[in-house]
Amino acid sequence: MVRIVEVKLTLKSPAILAERRSASGFLGAFDYIPASTLRGAILTSLYVEGKVDEDTLSKEDMKPSLIASPAYPLSPKGKSRPASPFIWKCKKCELNRVLEKSEECDSEGGEDKKDGAILDQEEKFIKVIYENALLEIPSECREGHRALKPLHPELIPEPKRVVTRQISVGINKSRATAVKEMLYSYDVIFPPQTFWATLLLPEKYELNNRFEVMVGRGLSRGFGLTEIELQREISLEEKAEEYSNHIKGKTVVLFAMSPTLQGGFNPQPYPRTVNLSKIGEQLGLSIDGALQIERVYGKTVRVRGGWSLLTNTNRPDYYAKAQGSIIAAKVEAQSQKDAAKGLAVLAYHGTIEELNGFTITGVNMLRPALEVIKDAS
Ligand SMILES: [Zn+2]
Repeated sequence: MVRIVEVKLTLKSPAILAERRSASGFLGAFDYIPASTLRGAILTSLYVEGKVDEDTLSKEDMKPSLIASPAYPLSPKGKSRPASPFIWKCKKCELNRVLEKSEECDSEGGEDKKDGAILDQEEKFIKVIYENALLEIPSECREGHRALKPLHPELIPEPKRVVTRQISVGINKSRATAVKEMLYSYDVIFPPQTFWATLLLPEKYELNNRFEVMVGRGLSRGFGLTEIELQREISLEEKAEEYSNHIKGKTVVLFAMSPTLQGGFNPQPYPRTVNLSKIGEQLGLSIDGALQIERVYGKTVRVRGGWSLLTNTNRPDYYAKAQGSIIAAKVEAQSQKDAAKGLAVLAYHGTIEELNGFTITGVNMLRPALEVIKDAS
């Protein structure tokens, strides 16, 4: 049997979540923890604690059964998530606000005020897609400025964090001496920083309610120590019941919590069909259904494949629609019950893709869009 949980992650030491590796170091800092990074960190921790053996670990590489979502930051306002393509920021309004603020001495509870520079049409546009009506993309803000910048796929609310670039001298490991003129730089994210994510895993993996993992780069130097706390169990049956309300006729509008719809090595159109029966099978559930993708609204991005623990190599990069993309689809299923169950499984399991002999997880995690924009979990 599988178990689905929501977890909270807390950085206990500075972390290096590099977007890219260059000759001079690890540069750029993801503002979230990629799904493959989190999954690898948890598997390693389970192995170190003796909860899974080497055999299980290598099976996980070929036939993954532990699936992690990307971990997005928690902010005082709650869970952040990627912005869909239907929310913009007006650069002119933002500039005006900054100027106003510097003039004002006593601001009146400005913290809680809605950000006037944001033009949020997510709910409206998702409803329009359900009705199969035409989307009229706005070209100006409420004040009439033609200075709208899409927020997709940045995170909302924007996470506050401290990132600094560290430069260190290269050390020759065998002689433990500094290497002349070798400077090494890396971008470091500092605690306190918290994230939220979901995990799907076999019950036999026995997670503690609180445990530690190491994420990112520089682990041998103490970077990336992260505490994971279980927050709550998520019931597939309850989710299926909720999701049933989001299927209108056969139409469902979904929100991509992860990179989505395999693009392969070259940007290419998304697949037309997601086989829900096959995903159910992987979890030992009998579901008769498929999702027919009609349209995807979102940006194509190149996704870093990340490090493969077992082969000690980088997985290949691939193209996908960015997290935060909106997907219009039809569910073809034997019954409404199967359709809803299939969607619930897809939300927390996503699909498992294969690229060049590597398995890719943490993709195609799609959830009913109206649910996500109200509460990310
Ligand atoms: Zn404006």
